Amino acid sequence: MRSEIAACTTCAPHLPLGPRPVTQFSATSRVLIIGQAPGTKVHASGIPWQDDSGNRLREWIGLDDHEFYDPAKVALVPMGFCYPGKAAGSDAPPRPECAPQWHRRILDLLPSDRVTLLVGSFAQLHYLPKDAGRTLVERVRAFERFAPALFPTPHPSWRSVGWQTRNPWFETDLLPRLRAVVRLHVNRA
Ligand code: SF4
Repeated sequence: MRSEIAACTTCAPHLPLGPRPVTQFSATSRVLIIGQAPGTKVHASGIPWQDDSGNRLREWIGLDDHEFYDPAKVALVPMGFCYPGKAAGSDAPPRPECAPQWHRRILDLLPSDRVTLLVGSFAQLHYLPKDAGRTLVERVRAFERFAPALFPTPHPSWRSVGWQTRNPWFETDLLPRLRAVVRLHVNRA
């Protein structure tokens, strides 16, 4: 499947820098991180989450680079695998073709006993039930409803610093729980 993904050109006409799918997964990844889409830095390096957001995400979940970039332990499967370009001064949404085309096959390959992080609104609106909450705060705040299999989180961009200040329960309640569950699955891989 990896070679099929690498050769994918489904949304080439919409991608300003062309297709360059960036993912990581294996049949033993027990931590699944479903994010948004690569930015320009990740598009250039081809390494997922190798940016400031990735540093913050690793701090949130308590993994170092060595563990995070081990596909035997961690799957990195964004809603869109290729850099989608800009829209209204910010990164454009993930290409809508991507998750329907690839996610089911990848998720079927992973162990069923795993933890899934839904990082940001795009992943949450795709994977959480409709009544999970209208806003990001509502959905993340409801994490106990989905734990320990699923954890909604904000996207760990610079904007999340202010978001965390306004929502201190994220650091005191959600992150310790999330770190413990991630550690359990990483140690089992
Ligand atoms: S974003 Fe996904 S569906 Fe679109 S070209 Fe890249 S890999 Fe293919």
